[in-house]
Amino acid sequence: MPKVICPICGKEMIERYRPFCSKHCADVDLGRWFGGKYRVETEEMPDFSQLPANDDDYEVN
Ligand SMILES: [Zn+2]
Repeated sequence: MPKVICPICGKEMIERYRPFCSKHCADVDLGRWFGGKYRVETEEMPDFSQLPANDDDYEVN
């Protein structure tokens, strides 16, 4: 029988998470939908991704 692969990562599909191989990949696919829209809306705010998130905490600790 034909092997169905996950469209996200290319691994073998798991029937439970059809058509993906895991809940993670299903979430990734969903994230791409929202991510695409979100990215369009926030394209004028590139500063968001340049915030030093972890570096400060690391030095304090
Ligand atoms: Zn997958």
